[in-house]
Amino acid sequence: MSDLIHDVIIVGGGLVGASLACALSGHGLRLAGIEAATFKRRSKSTYDDRSLSLAWGSRQIFETLGIWQRLGDAPEPIHRIEISQRGRFGRARLDRSDHGVDALGYVVEARILGAAVLDQVESLDDLEMFCPASMEELTVGDDAAEVSVIEGDQTRVLRGRVVVGADGAGSRVRERLGIGARTLDYAQSAVIANVTPEKPHNNCAYERFTDSGPMALLPQPHGRCGVVWTVRKDGMDDILALSDEQFLEQLQRRFGYALGRFERAGRRSAFPLKLVVSNENVRPRAVIIGNAAHNLHPVAGQGFNLGLRDVAVLAEVIVEAHRLGEDPGALDVLKRYGRWRRRDQRGSTLLTDGLVRVFSNDFTPLAAARAAALVGLDLIPGARRAVTRRTMGIAGKLPRLARGVPL
Ligand SMILES: Cc1cc2nc3c(=O)[nH]c(=O)nc-3n(C[C@H](O)[C@H](O)[C@H](O)COP(=O)(O)OP(=O)(O)OC[C@H]3O[C@@H](n4cnc5c(N)ncnc54)[C@H](O)[C@@H]3O)c2cc1C
Repeated sequence: MSDLIHDVIIVGGGLVGASLACALSGHGLRLAGIEAATFKRRSKSTYDDRSLSLAWGSRQIFETLGIWQRLGDAPEPIHRIEISQRGRFGRARLDRSDHGVDALGYVVEARILGAAVLDQVESLDDLEMFCPASMEELTVGDDAAEVSVIEGDQTRVLRGRVVVGADGAGSRVRERLGIGARTLDYAQSAVIANVTPEKPHNNCAYERFTDSGPMALLPQPHGRCGVVWTVRKDGMDDILALSDEQFLEQLQRRFGYALGRFERAGRRSAFPLKLVVSNENVRPRAVIIGNAAHNLHPVAGQGFNLGLRDVAVLAEVIVEAHRLGEDPGALDVLKRYGRWRRRDQRGSTLLTDGLVRVFSNDFTPLAAARAAALVGLDLIPGARRAVTRRTMGIAGKLPRLARGVPL
């Protein structure tokens, strides 16, 4: 057994785990991070880089952490969101002017965001990083949790007061803790591609519900748009096999001509979609966050934004406990995190899952109800405000980092 002691061991150095390391740093905590994949950086941006939509609240968190400043002018602001259904009546518009903000959210290349977070991680001197290294076993004792880590041909044991599972949808931390998860295969895949439309997107994000599933068009720099097109799983190979011209033609048919003709398409890739929601998020000396706790359908661009709010709340709870001389791995401390996050996690999961189910069903009365809901959303300012606040990631009790207040 090793006598290495850390206060917090973060398993998983994806966007969520790496952001947590940044948020916890600088507060007198001894941190460890374990990431299985080699950190890769590509210096050149390409036409095909995948984008993420970030809520306005996520910008606040990254700005308070000093990460947003590293992105320069890469993020493309979203000024408006237009929600509609193909071939049916009903449309709703959300606008930044209703909220007096510069943008409802932003679209940023995942590659650029990842590099900015990684640059920050590499500057932290209170983080011991094990990478590439894989967490194998986890045991929880009274005073500490122990994780065994394989790094090359070496196995070592780390001891920490709290272990955070930020290790994605197939979380080994979740599994080793014996925490079950509700899983639902949507039998859909998301096909991702970048396209160039004839007309300027004017910083509008489009969410269009079609009979095969939802489709999003996100504004990107240089007049491009990122397409997230949900298709039935059995139709995925056909879409991937189309020529660029055929793909653009099908996209045009589904999306329509709001942006004129689609003129260029980049490489397509596909992601099978399933819902994974863990039954518990907190145990003595352990907590799971991000996709390890909730892997959502990308329909509303909520997944990472939700995970980043987990980060902001968990960092606040742990730093506060540490300041008060409490044990950050004690169950009553971690339960504060669990209680605070429950509402947002449930709400975002229900909203996302509900949208997929309601809008993937072509039952005629349901289509009429959807049209009425969209018209209602468009016309009733209170309803629009509530949906916009959730989209902006500012619903409910906000953690300090999301209010621009450092920990
Ligand atoms: C098509 C698509 C579009 C999306 N668009 C958006 C969007 O616009 N906006 C948005 O907010 N979200 C979006 N999402 C969701 C978003 O991508 C995820 O929510 C987010 O990336 C999850 O990050 P994570 O760090 O929790 O998990 P992951 O990215 O899965 O990271 C987990 C990390 O843990 C590591 N790991 C796993 N096991 C171990 C182990 N045993 N030991 C060590 N390391 C381990 C892995 O190597 C990995 O790096 C989208 C998702 C998809 C599929």
